[in-house]
Amino acid sequence: MKPQGLLFNVAVMAAIRYPLTYRFPSPVSPGQRVLVPLATRKATGIVLGPTGELAPGIEVREALRVLDPEPLLSAELVRLGLWIADYYLAPPGEVFRAMLPLRQETRQTRQVRLTEEGRRAMQGLSSSLLEESKGSQDAALLLYLDRHPGVAVETLQKRFAAAYPRALEQKWVSAEEVQKERRRRKVLAVRLAGPLPERPARLSPVARRIIEALERQGPAEDHRALLEATGAQLTNLRTLGRAGLIELTEGRARESVPGKPSEEAECVFPSGEAGLPPQLTPAQSAVLNELYARLERGFGAVLLHGVTGSGKTEIYLHLIARCLERGRSALLLVPEIALTPAIQALFRSRFGAQVALLHSGLTERERDDAWWRVRRGHAKVVLGTRSAVFAPLANLGALIVDEEHDSSYKQDETPRYHGRDVAVVRAQFAGAVALLGSATPSLESYWNARQGKYLLLKLEERIGGRKLAAVVVVDMRQEFRETHTQIPLSRELKAEIEAQIRDKAQTMLLLNRRGYSWFLLCRSCGQTQRCVNCSVALTYHRREHRLTCHYCGYSTAVPSVCPACGSEYLHYVGEGTEKIEQKFAELFPGARVARLDRDVARRRREFLRVLEEFRQGKIDILVGTQLIAKGHDFPGVTLVGVVSADVGLGLPDFRAAERSFQLITQVAGRAGRGSAPGRVLVQTFFPDHYAIRFAAEQNYEGFFSKEMGFRRMMHYPPVTALANVVAQHVKLERAAQVAKEVGGFFTRVEVQFAGIKILGPGPAPLARVERRYRIQFLLKSNSRATLHALLKQLVHHCAQSGIQPREVMIDVDPVNLM
Ligand code: ADP
Ligand code: ZN
Ligand code: ZN
Repeated sequence: MKPQGLLFNVAVMAAIRYPLTYRFPSPVSPGQRVLVPLATRKATGIVLGPTGELAPGIEVREALRVLDPEPLLSAELVRLGLWIADYYLAPPGEVFRAMLPLRQETRQTRQVRLTEEGRRAMQGLSSSLLEESKGSQDAALLLYLDRHPGVAVETLQKRFAAAYPRALEQKWVSAEEVQKERRRRKVLAVRLAGPLPERPARLSPVARRIIEALERQGPAEDHRALLEATGAQLTNLRTLGRAGLIELTEGRARESVPGKPSEEAECVFPSGEAGLPPQLTPAQSAVLNELYARLERGFGAVLLHGVTGSGKTEIYLHLIARCLERGRSALLLVPEIALTPAIQALFRSRFGAQVALLHSGLTERERDDAWWRVRRGHAKVVLGTRSAVFAPLANLGALIVDEEHDSSYKQDETPRYHGRDVAVVRAQFAGAVALLGSATPSLESYWNARQGKYLLLKLEERIGGRKLAAVVVVDMRQEFRETHTQIPLSRELKAEIEAQIRDKAQTMLLLNRRGYSWFLLCRSCGQTQRCVNCSVALTYHRREHRLTCHYCGYSTAVPSVCPACGSEYLHYVGEGTEKIEQKFAELFPGARVARLDRDVARRRREFLRVLEEFRQGKIDILVGTQLIAKGHDFPGVTLVGVVSADVGLGLPDFRAAERSFQLITQVAGRAGRGSAPGRVLVQTFFPDHYAIRFAAEQNYEGFFSKEMGFRRMMHYPPVTALANVVAQHVKLERAAQVAKEVGGFFTRVEVQFAGIKILGPGPAPLARVERRYRIQFLLKSNSRATLHALLKQLVHHCAQSGIQPREVMIDVDPVNLM
């Protein structure tokens, strides 16, 4: 007999390459979340649509439960997710998981069960024996497990600390990883059960605190707040409830107050910061008129190339305001949000409660709240980082990507999507305008504009007719020959900084490395201290006095002698931000020196404090990494020093020149934004490199032409489509085996996919990261369609040859080739 029910395709949130089919008792809609069985566990999935013909003999399992009464994802977002899964060759379920930053419905636990052997062992003990051996921990454990199958490992360890390892060893028990459905966190309302005739005499201190709190403040809407205030546990409430002293009723989770400004935004940027919108300049008006016209015409992609300080932000704000007037919603993506509070303040002052922030710095709860405010249509403007491109906005008018060249828009784990490119595709699905803005557009976007795919709009002048900063290149080769200086500070830059201090003007210094030194080198045997998980040198951090890996976070104590040869001659090589900060404090006594980098950014309050003090002129010299080049507006800065402009130029990355050009141009854009003109000193060992020269001239067009020549000659994007395929595994043998399988596949199909160049296999530039060995293939093709077809076939081949998705990383349009 045929089983009843309807069949639907579900993208299960797991590393599974294709959607799975499940049986449902009644119809479900695309975009709805469901709980389904997956092997021995439960998993969340997104309904894609009804299943067509099934191949005979395929067994279909029953879905367990529908999680949301209505679809969580709109048809547009389901379509977008499927597009991403297809384009980036990512498991669809993992794409949807990335799109829904909601709390997982399931959680991972390890459960213990009796094995067959365990069962036999238990049956072998006759009941009398069991009686006798009651004291025996082993028997007790077996009996306990028989009664409580699937108990959590932690529970068993606590109860049978000694017997559990023995049972494991005897193979009586097995522990397995399972997904358990997370219990819904209930919110309870708590109130006193009527007037108490007389207070029971023997109340525990906790109970007394609870009752007194309720007497004082009245009923509590959310029991969690009450627990926090009284230091009590949920069981205390339940006990009092059973004793009839209080009443517990199931409440509802309250939505947080819409648009409530966050504490930080308020305390860091008080009033006055973002006042009334300024009068637009003629250049801004011209750009906006084009954009307004586009807005009425449905989908269109626009690249706004505006020099630093040309007032791009004002363009974004006006475009968003126009969307709202038309009853549409809008989205602005920025590379970094937690660290640029100014933009938050600006958005709040212009759009108030209509704004929702979406970024990774939020707590689960805040993100949940923000997401739902958008989903319910209470917030029509979203300001966020990469994944905010998936914000559940309806009726989108504009998707804006600020600093579109920024590499943080590319996600470096599955799904490896590029937020900017996804924004353009979503705009297409939504019939909206995609606006990409930058002073240094990526070659891809500028190329698209040149090809006529994007409309190109320009802002060529700074606001108020301010001049771009003058850039001076300092040749460090010559400097070194003449001075043999130990610290990377040329005489010219030193003199300029001294002049700044005399004139009470502010200076910003850019370095590429955080930490104190680049690495620790043994002068006797030449060994560097390396990460145990990755093939990179560890960086010395002075504050913690530890060596740290910037890739996986591994950290270790600083050895007093070389672990390899026992020599004491350990030498710190290179300068990081931490060291420069310290050196400068010594070099320029009396100057107030501070540092901003990712290490400081981790201590968020300190980061915001440094930013604010620098804005207020309480700091003379700010030393930092790229972070300080990103979008900040410090009117008092008149000198910017790029301490080492070339670190990027030595990397085996075809975008190294582009990165150096962008970095220098962007950081130069931080100088002279106020009324005083700015100067920039760029120290380099490659003063003749075109990236440095064009950046010094702030000549984007010149750089673009030259760099395009290189990309054409070497067959690199944007003229070719690129994909990176990496076989990876913690065991070197397995990585090699997978690489061999993949390489064999490429060799077999090469004829079929003529025109694709396949480089490799070879060790990836970072041959080992987070303990995984990595073997790389680089694929280039003039035809994106052909490359995509080949990769699709690769995925299919891997699925058939028992290669797990995690064992072959496929990165389409890679940004990082390391
Ligand atoms: P960009 O993002 O292009 O580097 P910003 O948007 O940060 O430039 O603008 C630079 C500065 O000019 C900001 O301080 C901004 O408030 C100011 N500004 C922008 N537009 C105007 C205008 N029309 N009139 C006066 N000041 C403006
Ligand atoms: Zn040594
Ligand atoms: Zn590491």
